Amino acid sequence: MFENLSTTLDRAFKTLKGQGRITDINVAATVKEIRKALVDADVNYKVAKTVTDKIRDEAMGRKVLIAVEPGQLLVKIVHEELTQLMGGRLQDINVKGEPAVVLIAGLQGSGKTTFSGKLANYLKKQNRNVLLAACDIYRPAAIDQLKVLGQQVGVDVYAEPENKNAVQIARNAIQFAKANNKKVVIVDTAGRLAVDEQMMREIEEVKKAVQPTETLFVVDSMTGQDAVNTAKTFNDRLNFDGVVLTKLDGDTRGGAALSIRSVVDKPIKFISTGEKMEAIDLFYPERMASRILG
Ligand code: GDP
Repeated sequence: MFENLSTTLDRAFKTLKGQGRITDINVAATVKEIRKALVDADVNYKVAKTVTDKIRDEAMGRKVLIAVEPGQLLVKIVHEELTQLMGGRLQDINVKGEPAVVLIAGLQGSGKTTFSGKLANYLKKQNRNVLLAACDIYRPAAIDQLKVLGQQVGVDVYAEPENKNAVQIARNAIQFAKANNKKVVIVDTAGRLAVDEQMMREIEEVKKAVQPTETLFVVDSMTGQDAVNTAKTFNDRLNFDGVVLTKLDGDTRGGAALSIRSVVDKPIKFISTGEKMEAIDLFYPERMASRILG
């Protein structure tokens, strides 16, 4: 994860770390290299510019030039700014409610169904009585996939294979949850290959019908800049509460992790790092910054 970004950032710092005499000029050159490394990692250009301007101002304000170890201080500043860029602190999900409803949205193939299973497992381990609701009415295999995952993690799955009305299924799932003492309902919805109007309208209607405590937008981190654009489109329509970044175990360049927060102003709440049900983590911006800096 982030291998290229880590390597290029490390190279940028080397200029300063190995330098006998530090000058304004080589600080500026290092900051420029950091910006290039971020853009190469698919970070939105405006975001990369804003963050590196801040890094440069901080470096000047904190007198990197006369620091005992200027390279170290600059790394510290970059670490702080990347942490801020990704939201600063951990933001957990809200699962209070009778029952709490977590709506899962995103494009097809982003990892929604897999994540729904993982989240069910995660919440079950916290002793919550969870129900998975299969509302992907377009892909029959999605219902089976969710049933398999439910069985694997020991969580009930509500499905109506014959019903083609996602809103109705979601409503019925919540009624079922109430009648069966379930405390959290995770609603897995349909995705498409591209963002289309019908799909957006449907998920808006599902959202209105189930009044979720938490709406999570799931996005494949491997899709780089597109991930950020899709997040923007979904946020405009759904005003979601948080983002789930999937496939961080692949060789993602990191752009999505770094840009999403500042583009849509919504926190990343979970990361998914594999196909196994245990491969789910809360998103700690500070830890992610450390990973990026290697
Ligand atoms: P959906 O269409 O959004 O419901 O996506 P799925 O949950 O079916 O996931 C699509 C594919 O991505 C499946 O083959 C999953 O096993 C895989 N997948 C999901 N999350 C991850 C992840 O974090 N890492 C990896 N490597 N694969 C994942």
